[in-house]
Amino acid sequence: MSKSHLNLIAGTWSAGEKEIENRNPSDVSDLIGMYTQASGDQLSATIQRAKHAQREWAAYGLERKQAVLNAIGTELMARSQELGTLLSREEGKPLAEGKGEVYRAGQFFSYYAAECLRQLGENADSVRDGIEIDVRREPVGVVAVISPWNFPTATASWKIAPALCYGNAVVWKPANLTPASAVALTEIIAKQDIPEGLFSLVMGSGKAIGQRLVESPEVDAITFTGSVPVGKQIAAAAVANLTKVQMEMGSKNALLVMDDADIELAVTVAAGGAFGGTGQKCTASSRLIVHESICDAFTEKLIAAAKALTLGHALEDGTQIGPVVSEQQLQENLDYVEIGIKEGADLICGGERVDMPQEGYYMSPGIFMNTHNSMRINREEMFAPLASIISVGSYDEALSVVNDTKFGLTSGIVTKSLARATHFRRNAKTGVVTVNLPTAGTDYHVPFGGRGDSSYGPREQGRSAVEFYTTVKTAYISSGDV
Ligand code: NDP
Repeated sequence: MSKSHLNLIAGTWSAGEKEIENRNPSDVSDLIGMYTQASGDQLSATIQRAKHAQREWAAYGLERKQAVLNAIGTELMARSQELGTLLSREEGKPLAEGKGEVYRAGQFFSYYAAECLRQLGENADSVRDGIEIDVRREPVGVVAVISPWNFPTATASWKIAPALCYGNAVVWKPANLTPASAVALTEIIAKQDIPEGLFSLVMGSGKAIGQRLVESPEVDAITFTGSVPVGKQIAAAAVANLTKVQMEMGSKNALLVMDDADIELAVTVAAGGAFGGTGQKCTASSRLIVHESICDAFTEKLIAAAKALTLGHALEDGTQIGPVVSEQQLQENLDYVEIGIKEGADLICGGERVDMPQEGYYMSPGIFMNTHNSMRINREEMFAPLASIISVGSYDEALSVVNDTKFGLTSGIVTKSLARATHFRRNAKTGVVTVNLPTAGTDYHVPFGGRGDSSYGPREQGRSAVEFYTTVKTAYISSGDV
């Protein structure tokens, strides 16, 4: 019998209505465990409890909160090998990436532990004589955290850490494809010095428990990372209750390779950005916009780089690309390959299902060439190890292609020209811009987020997170002298 894993409801580990299986996408015969699914009543009970717990937590001293966040961060970093192995086993990213993700999650907690002590307000003189003004931030209350499967520990941590830092309670609904990482993080948080019920784990399907959570008028703020269609539903639910909402969604990131680029560097940057994490990153470089004068040389080297990547079981030594996360995701990826070919793009390598000794969801990294920006493969997020090459004749044309998208999360340029890099940094319409670096890969102490359909609401991470996780109070103080 496989172990059953429980939700954390109102401070108690609890079984829900039913269970789901969690299987390893590298080897579907490997059953990781059974995971309970919260009921509607459990969700209501845990939100009620969270409201009380939040008030207790907000009253904790700053150093007491800081100690809690530090302890969570320290444990995540210390256990990154063990928890990274679990993450890679259920999500399919190579072990080094799984371990790196858990370590990074720990860094989010350490960073926000320090932020506990850096909560400074503002003060001002009133325009009226004898009155002073104090502007300070207070917690928003109960925060609903809804996270995706592709960075199951890091994404949740960059939401949970600031939520706790600024004095809020958290009700977390993780993606049902990666429940093991969610239980592991919850176990670490639950054993800390926190009020009972401050932190809840409500595993369950998005349609059932996720939807109910975002529709709850008892929730004060909703932070979501996931797809655009689900994001739009969540925004509608939030507006119906006038609930504060923040969302990070899909994208269609472009990497621009200019005629003066170092081609070896450009290929390394493009291959890492396009195929790292099996292309399942919101920051993946899926449009490679290349100057026509170097397009053939770049393409030849990129094909060689893609073919040289070792595809395999996420936990095996030497694996550089793991499986995609699920059979459904693999099927959607293969559908995009068909769509691209039907639209007239040339699939010049990979893009196929690959059989391994063990049954899993393996797909070879694929490259399209002779594509143009109006094709669906260049307009819709694929979330796959697939990249399209778009050949352009000038920098101006390239920049207009980069910006011709409804998304706007990340973009990058490979160039030796400081003038072009500077122009690009200032004119690319994305929330993150990289120069001679992959479009994927960001830090934790600075803002992260996009424009257009990629993001909605205040930025995440770094000190920007304070905007979403707090609300401002303006106090007018008179000495009372008349
Ligand atoms: P989904 O939007 O399908 O799911 C995201 C989360 O929302 C999951 O926990 C899911 O639960 C939940 N959910 C689904 N339906 C609802 C609903 N009606 N109400 C409330 N919650 C719901 O995205 P994926 O998990 O497939 O993640 C991939 C997507 O995430 C990609 O589009 C990617 O671009 C985006 N992403 C964006 C990032 C960014 O920062 N911009 C970073 C990482 C990913 P369940 O698992 O049960 O479906």
